[in-house]
Amino acid sequence: MNTLLKESAKLIKESNFTFAFTGAGISVESGIPPFRGEHGLWNKYNPQVLDLGYFLNNSAHCWTYIREIFYDFFADAKPNDAHRILAQMERNKLLNAVVTQNIDNLHYEAGSETVYEFHGNSKKLKCLKCGQVYDARDIDFENIPPKCVNDKDVLKPDFIFFGEGIPHDAYADSFAAAEKAEVCIIVGSTGEVTPASYVPRTAKQAGATIIEINPEETIFTSAITDIHLKGKATDVLNQLGELLF
Ligand code: NAD
Repeated sequence: MNTLLKESAKLIKESNFTFAFTGAGISVESGIPPFRGEHGLWNKYNPQVLDLGYFLNNSAHCWTYIREIFYDFFADAKPNDAHRILAQMERNKLLNAVVTQNIDNLHYEAGSETVYEFHGNSKKLKCLKCGQVYDARDIDFENIPPKCVNDKDVLKPDFIFFGEGIPHDAYADSFAAAEKAEVCIIVGSTGEVTPASYVPRTAKQAGATIIEINPEETIFTSAITDIHLKGKATDVLNQLGELLF
């Protein structure tokens, strides 16, 4: 592991463009469970509540669960050392961007500035009729479903539901980063979600070295990973941070 960490630190220091591609695993140590696996959210909830077609016809029912999952349970989650090390790497000019599948806002809260949120952000809500965006802190979640002040239409969390497209700018910026990357650091992602998983695959095709941080093997590991740093995100990134800063 030590040799792999040293090799990774060297590659990152020498790279002209490095980005991190993060998934639910980086926020597990902040107390937010992943969707899949033994303790995954989909063992407890029906993913249908995040299906756009179902939501449009059953918004009050869906909002009961959406409030519980995203605005009760995880509202107080704080960034962990893994988010903080990535932010420090950016400040030290060792990381150019974070492409995240997460919707929890924790990269921004940790201090990262160039963050491409591939699946949107739960801390904002949007009116599907007039497009007005609301800060979740201004919403009274006692009264659900929350409604737009302009047209009384139901608000939807501003992350993508099943059946929705990827936000245009995040998509374009993520693939542009992948095309020019010399190093891509994948943290805590199974690689099962498309089109997000095409981002590190594109980086690999464009010649980047892929460093993967995950306690488990994933779809990426045998397909594109060059260096697998096997372990939890906070442990591995703390060790990497000591070699980098
Ligand atoms: P996933 O749920 O499919 O897989 C999580 C991965 O994290 C697994 O490979 C697991 O081995 C790994 N992992 C678990 N604990 C870890 C740790 N401490 N350190 C490092 N890795 C760890 O995650 P995914 O690939 O991101 O796909 C799930 C989808 O669900 C994404 O599209 C994402 O938008 C969404 N999601 C987001 C959040 C969030 O915002 N925090 C939470 C759950 C799901």
